[in-house]
Amino acid sequence: MAIGRLRLKPLSYDFPPWRPPNEANSLLLRVTRGCTWNRCTFCAMYKHFTFQRRPLEEIKADILTAASLYCDEVRTVFIGDSNSPSIKTADFVDILRQLYASFPAIERVTSYARAKTLLGKPLDELKQLRQAGLTRLHVGLETGNAALLKKIKKGPTPEEMVAGCLKAKDAGFELSLYVLLGLGGEDLSEAHARDTAAVLNLIDPHFIRVRTLLPQPGSELYAAMESGSFIKCSHKTILREQRVLVENLNVNSEYLSDHITNYIPLNGKLPGDKEAMLRTIEEYDADFAHNSLLQSKFARKDTLQSL
Ligand code: SF4
Repeated sequence: MAIGRLRLKPLSYDFPPWRPPNEANSLLLRVTRGCTWNRCTFCAMYKHFTFQRRPLEEIKADILTAASLYCDEVRTVFIGDSNSPSIKTADFVDILRQLYASFPAIERVTSYARAKTLLGKPLDELKQLRQAGLTRLHVGLETGNAALLKKIKKGPTPEEMVAGCLKAKDAGFELSLYVLLGLGGEDLSEAHARDTAAVLNLIDPHFIRVRTLLPQPGSELYAAMESGSFIKCSHKTILREQRVLVENLNVNSEYLSDHITNYIPLNGKLPGDKEAMLRTIEEYDADFAHNSLLQSKFARKDTLQSL
């Protein structure tokens, strides 16, 4: 049930163009358009949007439209676009109150958030958002390697990532962090994996969500790959990188490979499932050199676009 996409008229309702895969059944509500940052070299998602905060009355009109159609059906809500906590806290609280008043069965409200935005918000304001019913934040860590964070123009340092995320946890949010396998290319693969594990260990998020880098047309990294200045990781390197990452994790997190870009279905609850997860990686690694079906399955992933 993709609430909205199938039944709401596009002209009467403004949808976030992107959402996490696990929000496929959620009501999608757009409070901003685009990304407040929009500079990450690997990202082409919002390149064609100028960042805008939607007027409060437009957002509230969308809530009323959705409520008139799906009032009792909505259990989860995803709020877009890329960094909703960047709007005024009082406005966000107002939106959350109207959401909960309009959909009595809501169980979860989720948003993307930048670590720097979380770091810049007073703890008291983050708590206000949590108390008003924003429950889960998805933050793009991508890597814990300081040089790589700088190179991809992510914005925060590893220390700022840790501080922003710990503050969100302190405010009571469920925290979901994205990691981008292959982001450092062949050269930085090992350092990327080790340093990412180190930062994740400090944050100990509720969820670690892994994606695999497939440079997308329109991104700086795609242009760098085309010009030969960025060497994309081989399939074997990605497997090795994931092994180093998992080996070095010391967290109590749900580890999820819930994205079409990932080569192998590696999922588990850490620390309990760590050995089984490492065995899974070893099995794929051992099989890969001799299994042409597996090789072509991995290769097909490399052609995916519009991610
Ligand atoms: S990765 Fe996130 S923060 Fe970076 S440009 Fe894309 S949407 Fe913005």
